[in-house]
Amino acid sequence: MAEVPRAGTGEVDAAVAAARDAFPAWRAVAPGDRAAIMRAIADGIEAKLDTIARIEARNAGKPISDANGEIGMVVETFRYYAAGPERLLGKTIPVAGGVDFTFREPMGVVGLIVPWNFPLAIASWKVAPALAAGNTVVLKPAELTPLSALELEKIALEAGLPEGVLNVVVGPGSTCGQRMVEHPDINKIAFTGSTEVGRSIAEGAAGTIKRVTLELGGKSAAVVFADADIDKAAAAVPYAVFGNAGQDCCARSRILVERSQLDRFLEVMEGTVKAMRVGDPLDSSTEMGPLISASHREAVASFVPDERNVAFRGGVPEGPGYWFPPTVLAPVSNTERAAREEIFGPVACVIPFDGEEEAVRIANDTEYGLSGSIWTRDGGRALRVARAIDTGVLSINSNSSVRVSTPFGGFKQSGIGRELGPDALDHYTEVKNVYYSTEEGS
Ligand code: NAD
Repeated sequence: MAEVPRAGTGEVDAAVAAARDAFPAWRAVAPGDRAAIMRAIADGIEAKLDTIARIEARNAGKPISDANGEIGMVVETFRYYAAGPERLLGKTIPVAGGVDFTFREPMGVVGLIVPWNFPLAIASWKVAPALAAGNTVVLKPAELTPLSALELEKIALEAGLPEGVLNVVVGPGSTCGQRMVEHPDINKIAFTGSTEVGRSIAEGAAGTIKRVTLELGGKSAAVVFADADIDKAAAAVPYAVFGNAGQDCCARSRILVERSQLDRFLEVMEGTVKAMRVGDPLDSSTEMGPLISASHREAVASFVPDERNVAFRGGVPEGPGYWFPPTVLAPVSNTERAAREEIFGPVACVIPFDGEEEAVRIANDTEYGLSGSIWTRDGGRALRVARAIDTGVLSINSNSSVRVSTPFGGFKQSGIGRELGPDALDHYTEVKNVYYSTEEGS
């Protein structure tokens, strides 16, 4: 659908140099003026929302209705962080002999490395707070989905962002990404992607003591108690696994169901999954598109080597496309590979449990801790279990994961730091403490 340049380490170095040059002037822009540019970027994206959503849908194979929602979120994210420049508040701290106060200072050049599953949405979660805080940016989209980031760069320049403040480098992770991680003039890396690459980034960043935030993989649980509205839960929960064809770090790919309601749950779920509209991403009624690539489809298929554990599947269209049907494995033990590793495809494991204690134990029996859901009509239980599950983002009687105004990120090997909400600004600033002596004669 397009040809893009393939950058190498030389282009990364040039982008970093441009960002470094642009930093002093950008940090000095008055907060209100920085806010106005960010609002203009939001307006520019909104004006081209349909075009960018179409690019994203075609490039990533995601349903156009999802792409519209994601680009809408990008607009919202820039508007939300447009308030940031004027809210970088410090503190005053009582001390003896003077006055003590803090500033939140920009970090300098920040390197942002993002994946292909929500290309521009995830980029905006990083770019917007980074710019709001007065940093300059080198952004590297994933190799498979570079197009929407290039659109963002154009729109930002048209909106009045000075040259060199946002630089998009399109190239492979193994060369460009790695160079960014090692580059002595990049002060922070914010990364979203696999836990494996995240680990190598944390190691690489140690060389220059870079600040690092990591949003990594997940293997989250939707816990359905017998006292839940079972029909409602069974109709909703599939969308928390099969949305974006399962290529979602927040996918609740382990569905824990209290044994007494397992049969009823599976019966309703089967109806929902078989009715799911899998097909052409550009058709507005499509709910699930194909996977991102042939090699990714192979990786997903390796989790379903035969039909033995398959309870039921949805359908896929005939013809070309990296299709993989929505697939439900049941009953699954939490020790099986499909229940332990992130599949990143439309494969759900239904795991029966007996009682609250066992539900919490199984939900926490994973190296990840990104999201999760609790389905129950017992309010006390909902809060007890919410406190007991080791995960960064939880929803009760809902599939909700991500909102612009609330913090998002993982426990355990799902990451370090938080994006979105007010917390993200902390991760793009350094705290400076200043003591001012008020002693006479000073
Ligand atoms: P990936 O880790 O393969 O790649 C992500 C980005 O890192 C790409 O831009 C890639 O080019 C770059 N990269 C690859 N190797 C690199 C290296 N050695 N040094 C620097 N950069 C490098 O991930 P992916 O396959 O694009 O995305 C899928 C993964 O992302 C899944 O594991 C998923 O859970 C995770 N994810 C997490 C979140 C979250 O917020 N926690 C959100 C979306 C996706």
